[in-house]
Amino acid sequence: MDRAARRPALSALRDRLHIPSDVPLATVPVTVAGQALVLAAVYVLSTSGIDVSLVVGSVALLGAALLAEAFPVPIEGVAAGRTSLASIFIVGTGVIYGWPAASIVGSLTMALVETAHRRPPRKVLFNTGLYALAAGAAGAVAAPIEGQGLGALVLAAAAASTAFYLVDITLLSAVLAEATSQPFLRVYARSTYSTAAPFMIMASLAAILVVLWDQSPFISVALTAPLVAIALYERRVHSALQRLRELDRLKNEFIAIVSHELRTPIASVYGAAMTLQQRELEPGHRNALLSVVFSESARLARLVDQVVWASRFEAGHARLKLEECEPAPLVEQVIEAARLHLPAALSIELEPVTAVPKVLADPERVRQVLVNLLDNAVKFSPDGGRINVAVEASNGSVRFAVADQGIGIPPDEQARIFEKFHRLDPHLTRGVGGTGLGLFICQELVHEMEGRIWVQPGAHRGSTFVFELPAARPSTDRT
Ligand code: ADP
Repeated sequence: MDRAARRPALSALRDRLHIPSDVPLATVPVTVAGQALVLAAVYVLSTSGIDVSLVVGSVALLGAALLAEAFPVPIEGVAAGRTSLASIFIVGTGVIYGWPAASIVGSLTMALVETAHRRPPRKVLFNTGLYALAAGAAGAVAAPIEGQGLGALVLAAAAASTAFYLVDITLLSAVLAEATSQPFLRVYARSTYSTAAPFMIMASLAAILVVLWDQSPFISVALTAPLVAIALYERRVHSALQRLRELDRLKNEFIAIVSHELRTPIASVYGAAMTLQQRELEPGHRNALLSVVFSESARLARLVDQVVWASRFEAGHARLKLEECEPAPLVEQVIEAARLHLPAALSIELEPVTAVPKVLADPERVRQVLVNLLDNAVKFSPDGGRINVAVEASNGSVRFAVADQGIGIPPDEQARIFEKFHRLDPHLTRGVGGTGLGLFICQELVHEMEGRIWVQPGAHRGSTFVFELPAARPSTDRT
């Protein structure tokens, strides 16, 4: 049957089994076969009499597998993320105690860790089934390799690791290929390529475990401490590396954004200054050019100021002078200054202020935050409208709010806009520039003053930025 003909048949099957459309059909046989294998394993073990050493050994290996699955180790260069070393112990169980013990240890490891991670039951069942099948294959492949010599043990461990890996990667690739509608072979080749290194590491560690276990299970247990230490060390090194990469990315982004933001005002100032110098101009034209020089230099100064503040926070050198100050006059001054260069279609209103206590804050920095929020409200209200500013007492704090009727911020972006360099429109399709540093600096300043800042959707449209600062004294002392 070709692909097109297969589709209606598959979707009929999906309907009959009540499988949601986002769940790959390939997960069904894996889940069913895996659970069936576990039942068969329980049956085989329960009918063959209790072997204490098998039970104790399997429980010890299950414990190690659980630890390894719960704390996966990042291996540098492996794109798949962190690698679980649990397969070493599951494969070990297969070689030492056979396929029934291995399937049970494999499925229990996955079931306990996935349930603890609160994965949906469907995923828990699939992953449990997958591990049970891979573990069963490992045990079954190792069984016919006879002998207690070093060579036989290493061979059995290598064969078992390979079987575990092949079953795991093949079934996972089948599910992934279906979920992403890609050819199976392409997904299979990519998965094999990206997991070959961890597989080799795991296969050698499984061989070491089996050989040591054969000498004495206690020696294997003694190996746990250094293994855990190496795993923890590896995790720390990897997260330090991630931080360095993130810093490097931020540095590149910083250079790109700042140089882009510098270019436009410098070009405007340069052009205006050249024209002023070279030509006799009408007073009107001259004043227009002078105002370009003025506003673009102000933009440059703002940019440099943002960079300076961002680097102060980075270096932990931001020093604020906290004092008791009246919030209402601060807000009024900022609004007055903003009204001087307000586009005609916009207005700024201050809501009536009643009984607001003094705040314990650095007045210059409160002004800086308000200026930034008002600047944004103006910048992101391209169709004009009203900007409402409010200041009020709120549970031992003073709450400042700047509400606009502009373009608004989607709910899933409301936390991210306070991140460094985060802009909703980095490609400037709306023609509004900016470094994405403004709100980051506002947030840091407010935090330095022991306050908090957030954004919420506007009453009808637009957005409302709110920040709270601690009142200077208990709320009995009100003005
Ligand atoms: P910038 O300093 O470049 O203005 P900010 O850190 O102040 O950057 O803001 C980050 C992003 O948050 C802006 O690029 C914009 O996408 C969004 N934003 C900020 N304020 C508003 C607002 N009042 N309305 C809509 N979007 C806003």
